[in-house]
Amino acid sequence: MKKVAVIGGGLSGLSIAKCLTDRYDVKVFEKESRPGGLIKCDRVNGNLYHIVGGHVFNSKRTDVLDWFWGFFNREAEFTKATRNAIISMGDGLKVGYPIENNIYQFSNDIITSFIQDVVSLAKDNTPEPLNFEEFLRYRFGDTLYNLYFKPYNEKVWRKDLKSVPLSWLEGKLPMPTINEMIFNNITHAQETKMVHSSFYYAKQNGSQFLVDRLAQGLNIVYNSEIVEISKQPVGWRVNNEEFDKVIFCGNIKHLPAAINNIDLGIYQQLVNELEYHGTTSVLCKIDDNPYSWVYMPDQAHQAHRIICTGNFAESNNANELTATVEFTDYISKDDVLANLKLLPFSPEYITHKYTEYTYPIQDSSTRNVVNEIKNILEPHGMYLLGRFAEWEYYNMDAAVGAAIDLNKKFI
Ligand SMILES: Cc1cc2nc3c(=O)[nH]c(=O)nc-3n(C[C@H](O)[C@H](O)[C@H](O)COP(=O)(O)OP(=O)(O)OC[C@H]3O[C@@H](n4cnc5c(N)ncnc54)[C@H](O)[C@@H]3O)c2cc1C
Repeated sequence: MKKVAVIGGGLSGLSIAKCLTDRYDVKVFEKESRPGGLIKCDRVNGNLYHIVGGHVFNSKRTDVLDWFWGFFNREAEFTKATRNAIISMGDGLKVGYPIENNIYQFSNDIITSFIQDVVSLAKDNTPEPLNFEEFLRYRFGDTLYNLYFKPYNEKVWRKDLKSVPLSWLEGKLPMPTINEMIFNNITHAQETKMVHSSFYYAKQNGSQFLVDRLAQGLNIVYNSEIVEISKQPVGWRVNNEEFDKVIFCGNIKHLPAAINNIDLGIYQQLVNELEYHGTTSVLCKIDDNPYSWVYMPDQAHQAHRIICTGNFAESNNANELTATVEFTDYISKDDVLANLKLLPFSPEYITHKYTEYTYPIQDSSTRNVVNEIKNILEPHGMYLLGRFAEWEYYNMDAAVGAAIDLNKKFI
């Protein structure tokens, strides 16, 4: 059997290892002491803590669903929920999510202004949007843009929305037409097109459950950070061991230094310049509520989202309901505490953690840079896979899907 080294035991690394393990001798190297990467969870005072986010699973890809459910008993081990998300406006008003389906919940002034927007959008020939700001204005109108899309997205992305390219949007946002928005408001329709409009969640241990199960039966070396991957006359040397192929699921920014005997040319520098965000995730006790997510465009504080992880599974809460409050980038504990006082549902601090790499930011050249690096490496038997290896805004199902696709290259 040929030998494959998989670097990184997050969901991507575990998925490709599972795909290959019947045909290859696969070894996974993970720098942490357990699997999971971004989807790891801890227990704090008995409460489940998603160290990053609050991961729920679903997919539009049937091959991903078929593959994934092959490892689990869906009925016994998971619950299925319909998204019950709201937007908490700064003035205390709470409206349904997504906002464009729930205009009827606003004041008559806002409804009138929205109607004027869509009438003129329908009449005028709006140009093709060139960036995220233009997309939001042309698609939803200025009223919704100023009320929600601008303040919310500026909190999340911490940048001028004009500088966010349209390539970022692909498959990530609903793209309702004006007719659909009007129809959805009149009929009070629920949004069902987005991947997480309904979702699965493990009854025990949240997303940690997923990776613990996938890790079973794999040959994984924990506490093993790979800092050097040397090209040999045939194959690669990783951790003093020879391999025929390497699948890198770590961070592409760290790759050029690790493979110092392959010249990535100008792409080496371009990789250094890739932008990203981190996340500060705060585990809190929270008032009882029926929601899965609470989105917060209010500029009076810096948190943008409450993920009501305590509502996803009863076993997530020791006694009282818990949730994760999410901030973009690093927020000090003092600032976290000050911010929590301004949030709805009275969150009470339990613990927090900052993770540096959580959101890859793409610009119009990012995919080209990553593809050029793939073109250099793949003829040598090295492959890139995963959220930060490919600098793609992958959800879990997209990460699994990318592993399934890569597996086909090995057949
Ligand atoms: C805030 C937030 C919320 C999210 N919510 C959802 C959600 O609800 N649903 C959903 O489907 N997706 C969600 N996602 C996306 C999801 O987290 C990712 O799709 C998934 O975790 C990507 O897995 P990965 O293996 O590609 O990357 P990672 O999880 O980053 O895994 C990389 C792994 O490689 C290891 N590693 C790195 N370098 C080395 C090295 N040199 N040597 C050895 N090991 C190394 C790391 O320790 C890590 O374990 C969310 C993401 C964020 C940031």
